[in-house]
Amino acid sequence: MTWEAVIGLEVHAHLATATKIFCACSTSFGAPPNTQICPVCLGYPGALPVLNRRAVELAIRAAIATGCTIHERSVFARKNYFYPDLPKGYQISQFDQPLATAGRIGGVRILRIHMEEDAGKSIHTGGVSHVDLNRAGTPLVEIVSEPDIRSAEEADAYLTRLRQILMYTDVCDGNMEEGSLRCDANVSVRKPGGALGTRTEIKNLNSFRYLRSAIDFEIARQSAVLESGGVITQETRLYDPSAGETRPMRSKEEAHDYRYFPDPDLLPLVVERAWIDEIARAIPELPHIRAERYQRDFALSAVDAEALVTSRPLAGYFEAAADASGNPRAAANWVRNEVLRILNEQKLDIADYRVTPVNLGRLIRLIDSGAIGGKSAKEVFDDMSASGDDPEQIVTRRGLAQISDPDVIREAARRVIERNATQVGQYRAGKAQLFGFLVGQLMKETGGKAKAELANSILRELLGS
Ligand code: ADP
Ligand code: MG
Ligand code: ZN
Repeated sequence: MTWEAVIGLEVHAHLATATKIFCACSTSFGAPPNTQICPVCLGYPGALPVLNRRAVELAIRAAIATGCTIHERSVFARKNYFYPDLPKGYQISQFDQPLATAGRIGGVRILRIHMEEDAGKSIHTGGVSHVDLNRAGTPLVEIVSEPDIRSAEEADAYLTRLRQILMYTDVCDGNMEEGSLRCDANVSVRKPGGALGTRTEIKNLNSFRYLRSAIDFEIARQSAVLESGGVITQETRLYDPSAGETRPMRSKEEAHDYRYFPDPDLLPLVVERAWIDEIARAIPELPHIRAERYQRDFALSAVDAEALVTSRPLAGYFEAAADASGNPRAAANWVRNEVLRILNEQKLDIADYRVTPVNLGRLIRLIDSGAIGGKSAKEVFDDMSASGDDPEQIVTRRGLAQISDPDVIREAARRVIERNATQVGQYRAGKAQLFGFLVGQLMKETGGKAKAELANSILRELLGS
């Protein structure tokens, strides 16, 4: 019996605001512990939250970019629980009246997007526990998918696209290591097409690798339990990266009753249609739309197009190079194969890359006009990446210009024929494979710079074949 996996993701994304959601404290990452705090984010009695307009704007952007319906009226609620990193005793979130509902990314429906504040961080070292409240009050959106995902690969693809969208729109910096983007995975298995099974929730997966590995482990574990006649208990589990497995954290029985109620310190959030429309107009072309456009306009494969839209700066670089080169397909190949290789090798950001898209375009023009050959082009490119010089400069400096003057090539071919009388005789007597040898000799004679097609046709002409 094979089991079908059913997966829904809950993604928490830090909104890229300068200040927290209900106070003016900084949200910057990495400050010394407890230096970015005030009575509001510490939850002192009587301190009053004031909603950050920019956070609402970014949340609306996320909702528009994922095709959600935005509700002009939503409500902040208190989610009550005790934890050392939550000194207020409650988290301000949205519950039964969220900001947005019913969106979609690819084939995965989005159930809801709501706004909330992050908690602080507990740090356990050497038998002592500390709490750092710098993160308390950082604005978040929680993006909850429907259980439309069927495998670890699909979950990876969904989160990849969601992260791209949030980064394209400058809603979130997408940094999973710093916790700006975190993912909980809800996993169940069922007989194909049957009723939904009982799910478990794996908390706080902060890398794509962990997400895939945790889901695969959980599918295998649940399938094995059901195979052997057992039942799945609804519970929260934690993924242990070093063991590659998930372990129970708390079961449904121990689950919190959060006693949600509307926060009496905050009015309902009312956003005007005109503002939503204004935010919508400023949303840039999104990655999947861009990838479709590349396929349509430049006849790129889906795989190539996707590789070029992974980030907005990279896509911008490609488009500028395509423009400057007059040959978008060549530009796509160079960016995909060579530029990305160098960025990867040197751990560089496209923004810090020496070769401007205009210079890459000029290199492609040199190739297309026959000024340099394919092999020299690689050499010029590597030089450009190291020196930042213009391609024309490098071609001159390295003496790489191709010989495309037929008279020069003909002269060289005559010398080759004279010097290799034996092979020429054998070739003329029918040993056709000697042509390659003679072409090789001609290339040698011209220092490898004769334009290949010319070298071939002139040699054939002189050999009378
Ligand atoms: P909770 O608030 O308790 O986490 P939700 O109803 O908000 O519960 O669901 C959370 C996530 O669980 C959603 O992403 C949803 O798609 C997913 N989910 C719901 N039922 C199942 C199921 N049977 N198997 C897998 N995922 C599920
Ligand atoms: Mg949940
Ligand atoms: Zn504060």
